[in-house]
Order: sequence, then structure tokens, then C-alpha cells
Amino acid sequence: MIRYLLIAIVIVLIARAFWRLIDGVMEAAGGTTRSRAKSAAVKLVRDPVCGTFVAPGTSRSLTARGETHYFCSEQCRSEFERTRI
Ligand SMILES: [Zn+2]
Repeated sequence: MIRYLLIAIVIVLIARAFWRLIDGVMEAAGGTTRSRAKSAAVKLVRDPVCGTFVAPGTSRSLTARGETHYFCSEQCRSEFERTRI
């Protein structure tokens, strides 16, 4: 009887370790998929004033000498206008 109990405990421990492993693999796979999808969907550009990365769709932009620059805030845009143009 005790022998069967021990076998049952060992099976539970193995099953638990196995599911923990599966969980870890799924999490790792999901994490890489998520970050890959994010970098493909949103191309970030650098704010030339403060160096923050911003999404062109949602940030303030300014076109100067045929080049479009993107800024994180109105403050950075006016700073750029003041110093670089
Ligand atoms: Zn900025």
C-alpha cells in the first residue's frame, strides 16, 4: 500500500514539473511573438531634441528642408524650431 502511495506522489511531482516546463515554453514563445509583432506594426522614430522614441502616427511632426521630424511634445518641437532651423 505504501509503495502505491509513493508511486502516486512521484507521478504527481513529475506531472507538476512537466506542466511548469510547458508553461515556461509557452510564455517564452508568446513573449517573442508579442515583441516581434509590436516591432513590425509600430515603427518608432527618434525625437531629435530629447532622444525619446515616438510613434509617427501619434506624435507632433515638423517638416524642415524636405525632412520630417517627429517630437514627443510641443515643447520639443518648438525647441527644435528655435535651435535647428
Ligand atoms: Zn522630446
